[in-house]
Amino acid sequence: MVTTRETVGFIGLGIMGMPMARNLMKAGFGVVAHNRTMSKAAALAAEGTQVAGSPAEVARAARVVVICVTASADVERVMLGTDGLPGVIEGVQPGSVVIDMSTISPDVTRRLGGLLAERGSSLIDAPVSGGEQGAINGTLSIMCGGEAVALDRVRPVLEAMGTRITHCGPSGAGQTVKLCNQIAVVLNNLAMAEALVFCQRSGVDPAVMLEAIAAGAAGSWQISNLGPKVIARDFAPGFKVGLQQKDLRLALEAADGLDLPLPGTALVHQLFRAVEHAHGPDTGTQALVRALEALTGVEVHSDRRPVI
Ligand code: NAP
Repeated sequence: MVTTRETVGFIGLGIMGMPMARNLMKAGFGVVAHNRTMSKAAALAAEGTQVAGSPAEVARAARVVVICVTASADVERVMLGTDGLPGVIEGVQPGSVVIDMSTISPDVTRRLGGLLAERGSSLIDAPVSGGEQGAINGTLSIMCGGEAVALDRVRPVLEAMGTRITHCGPSGAGQTVKLCNQIAVVLNNLAMAEALVFCQRSGVDPAVMLEAIAAGAAGSWQISNLGPKVIARDFAPGFKVGLQQKDLRLALEAADGLDLPLPGTALVHQLFRAVEHAHGPDTGTQALVRALEALTGVEVHSDRRPVI
């Protein structure tokens, strides 16, 4: 099992990756970090990490390597190399474990896992839920796929970033469960958005409504975390609409392969497309309500900050 005296590699210092890497340092791990935009890695270097010039260099310096980048193609670039930057696979050591915490395709995960296995190392898919705040607080839910032995070895690394670590099954199973998570998340988001628009048009303060229903059977992460942002007209991203669309595309493609209808997910995917056109892909997912506002002419707001 990994101990906190070990050095952990970290690639991808975005909204999620940066606080996750910080939590590894707080737990006592040495961290060697790489980011495409090197200035972000430099910011972390000021807090005590080593900085590596490429993913391969990270993999040579650490027996456990965490990746947290955007999409399937980005994980492939980090793993296989791109633009003259050698990938993880060029530096990876036999016995090393690579933990991919990005949300990507289960099929791509299995293929990359096979390539690492040929080099005597392992891939754990470990996408997360809990948002930026969960990453900052170290309270993420982490959905893992891969060999139990490799997962047990890196469990202390995951425990530094999350509070619930679930072994979902073989390689790719963590990504499949994350897609289930995204299906439930967007439908909860739509439910909240409809309730907010209905409440506003009915003349009741949406802040009061959020306080009341958060404590009952309709309570959800979306109501508690995104609802207050909507009524304050704060659409800054914790999670960007563009990333949400990437995940819905993955879910809809996987469902297509299974000949399975996902009518609710498909509807939200279309509504988010309208939001992307009007407000851009970097707006926060709480902007789903803006698609309903455009359809109804109602704008949801309250001057009161709900206590949830
Ligand atoms: P983000 O803020 O956009 O950060 C993405 C990071 O990936 C950046 O550091 C970026 O480098 C790096 N990157 C992207 N493409 C790359 C490439 N081709 N090569 C090397 N590095 C690359 O995204 P995020 O919100 O942290 O999300 C990261 C992952 O976690 C995504 O898969 C997302 O779906 C998932 N996730 C996010 C949330 C959330 O609430 N934000 C919640 C759960 C899961 P640069 O700095 O150079 O751009």
